[in-house]
Amino acid sequence: MDKRPAVFLDRDGCVNVEDSYIRDLAQLRLYPDSLNSIKKLNAAGLLVVIITNQSGVARGYMTEDLVRRAHDLLLGWARESGARIDGIYYCPHHPEGSQAPYAIHCQCRKPAPGMLRQAAEELGIDLAASFVVGDKISDIALGPAVGARAALVRTGFGVAQLEKIESESLPMPDHVADGIGGAVEWILSFGGAGG
Ligand SMILES: [Mg+2]
Ligand SMILES: [Zn+2]
Repeated sequence: MDKRPAVFLDRDGCVNVEDSYIRDLAQLRLYPDSLNSIKKLNAAGLLVVIITNQSGVARGYMTEDLVRRAHDLLLGWARESGARIDGIYYCPHHPEGSQAPYAIHCQCRKPAPGMLRQAAEELGIDLAASFVVGDKISDIALGPAVGARAALVRTGFGVAQLEKIESESLPMPDHVADGIGGAVEWILSFGGAGG
């Protein structure tokens, strides 16, 4: 089977509104253009995968079950609107967490590329032809780590992270967009899965 390109979307501050830790499902609110943007990626033949650090589990702010229920909710909203999310991967760990099983150094907490590699294996993804979108330096660092292109969005922590990139002369993302809609327009300019 031929490997396919994917778009790896960060969750908080990219697909849904950044609201510190999502400890209650009522906090989960999508940006207005999130589902339409996902539909455009679907139509272009790109896989859509959400990858999210949820260290609040390791910190004892919420349970892993709450994270899973949040993802069921996201998948349900997508399905109802005709958008397709091909996978959601999360990292519940943090090395300084308070909840023993989760308080570890792992391979999945971004900027480590573990979730991308797992998704690539399970879903048949060509990482070098793929894209990463997120509001943090730990998101866009995944691009160079796996040979993908990366866009920073100004939603969530994006504006503050961009200032940090500039003031500390950190590596710039391949693109900066106002939000997920602009990032997807940039991605589609490469021609989609056939491009
Ligand atoms: Mg984020
Ligand atoms: Zn992890």
